[in-house]
Amino acid sequence: MKVKDPVCGMVIESATAAAHGTYGGQTVYFCSVACQASYDKTHRRSA
Ligand SMILES: [Zn+2]
Repeated sequence: MKVKDPVCGMVIESATAAAHGTYGGQTVYFCSVACQASYDKTHRRSA
């Protein structure tokens, strides 16, 4: 599944995403752990 990294806007494949997390019940995928770290600053990660 193609997904968009919300931090840098890069379109990535969810299966090979470098990082992902669940935010507000939705799984969000990132191209790198750096992008996830940036996203974590403004969004609360849920279990
Ligand atoms: Zn990114």
